[in-house]
Amino acid sequence: MIVATTVAELRAVLRPRRAGSIGLVPTMGALHAGHLALVAAARAACDTVVMSIFVNPTQFDQQSDLDAYPTPVERDLAQAAAAGVDVVFLPDATEMYPAGHATTVCVAGPIAETLEGAVRGRAHFDGVATIVAKLLIAAQPDDAYFGAKDAQQVVVVRRMVADLGIPSRIRVVETVRDPDGLALSSRNARLSPPERAAALAMPRALDRARRLVTDGRIGAPEIVATVTREMQESGLDIEYVAVVDPDDLAPLSRVAGPALLAVAVRAGETRLIDNVALAPVAPGADAGVDVVPGRASSEGALP
Ligand code: AMP
Repeated sequence: MIVATTVAELRAVLRPRRAGSIGLVPTMGALHAGHLALVAAARAACDTVVMSIFVNPTQFDQQSDLDAYPTPVERDLAQAAAAGVDVVFLPDATEMYPAGHATTVCVAGPIAETLEGAVRGRAHFDGVATIVAKLLIAAQPDDAYFGAKDAQQVVVVRRMVADLGIPSRIRVVETVRDPDGLALSSRNARLSPPERAAALAMPRALDRARRLVTDGRIGAPEIVATVTREMQESGLDIEYVAVVDPDDLAPLSRVAGPALLAVAVRAGETRLIDNVALAPVAPGADAGVDVVPGRASSEGALP
């Protein structure tokens, strides 16, 4: 496995490999089985797999969250190598944001300003769009892999790639969960045992919502109220619970077609997000039809 720390090095390493296909897996490190499912999907489809590891300061709305973000570089490199990554792109902040940098990619409108954008502020998705654009321009992959867990990020990235005419396909990989249902996240390590027990109300509530819809109870207000109550009863602080269109995140009043239930909570100081698709996507529709099934986390290679 090659480690490149500059864009020039990355391009030089990839140049002779461009005859085959290149897949990029952007991450902020602290790898877990969710990231490795993205690598597995890229490995299955692409000749060369590139993983970027960069804790992007511009997408953090709180300095304390950035400061607390884990950076186990040696462990990440070992996991990336074991998962079959060919090239790790590991730039420092000045490589991605050189002195005097003045350009930001701004995705405007509801897709960036609702849900996570409303809680974390406008700058969050500007930071995401900017770094993803820079990584896509640096690596110029045929395919770039993102997790369904960050559903709004997928919507924003798809929009940005379409608007800027970046010629990479955006692939989405199913959320990988611990056996108890909690979606894997680098932030889960911060949960105390009682907080983790409370956090399990989140996947439980999403499951409950799915069953409500299966039973024909498709009104968004009832779904939102049920999910909110279930999570509040476990002591979670609710930031939002919303039933939205998976394509443009517009609020839905009922689940009559593809719908996404997106939630954000705090367990103690730790912020957690999750989501579930509430209706199957109609064949041929473009709302995540290219979702690649993730592996169960128990099959992951966490040491
Ligand atoms: P992060 O390092 O948190 O920025 O995540 C890097 C990529 O991994 C993003 O595309 C995430 O959506 C994806 N990801 C994070 N957690 C999971 C998970 N539990 N299952 C699938 N993908 C995930």
